[in-house]
Amino acid sequence: MLDDYRHKGQRRRMLMELKEVGIQDDAVLAAMDNVPRHFFLSSAFEQFAYQNKAFQIGSGQTISKPHTVARQTELLQLESGAKVLEIGTGSGYQCAVLCAMGYKVYSIERQRLLYDKAGPLLKKMGFKPDLFYGDGYKGKSVFAPFDGIIVTCGAPEIPEALLMQLALGGRLIIPVGEGDKQRMFSYTREGEKEFSRQEHGEFAFVPMLASRAQDK
Ligand code: SAH
Repeated sequence: MLDDYRHKGQRRRMLMELKEVGIQDDAVLAAMDNVPRHFFLSSAFEQFAYQNKAFQIGSGQTISKPHTVARQTELLQLESGAKVLEIGTGSGYQCAVLCAMGYKVYSIERQRLLYDKAGPLLKKMGFKPDLFYGDGYKGKSVFAPFDGIIVTCGAPEIPEALLMQLALGGRLIIPVGEGDKQRMFSYTREGEKEFSRQEHGEFAFVPMLASRAQDK
């Protein structure tokens, strides 16, 4: 796995572009500088790895755009050391960025092939998230409560289990909507059953799927 001056230069340009489109959190930009995105793509896409584009990662899934990863990470607004659950490990890129933020990361993936691939790659890069193969709708109650939960697939509705696994003051970042486009929401837990909600604009994600029937 080579990260040479060309990749580093392209990554710096990507970070400048992210700033231009409004990413302001220096910790997020530093974390993204520390994670070579091209490690998560097949060699066919390597030269495009630092463009603001989503790419196929196998099993019909895509790695999120850098802007989407930056924005979702920024919306968590957590300190280093916080406990974060990700739904949709996919390539492992967003997971690596969360690890680089200094979070204790748990991530769930429902596609076996992607789950099998992400673990060894993240380990090789020196990251130590806890990865699970399963249905993210249920969250991971044994490790709850979480300071942050980040859903990286388009949810048709808000999974109740995820809200209930938030710590008090914790945040769920979730794109909601069926079809090609979703609206990004953050839910903050204000009390046992009280949540406040904010909207953060339009994004595009692959769908969140409940059943594992499509596993290959
Ligand atoms: N965070 C990933 C994005 C991958 S795309 C990255 O940085 O590459 C979204 C992922 O969510 C896909 O891999 C898809 O298989 C997964 N997914 C969809 N529904 C899910 C569910 N119910 N539970 C867990 N993962 C799910």
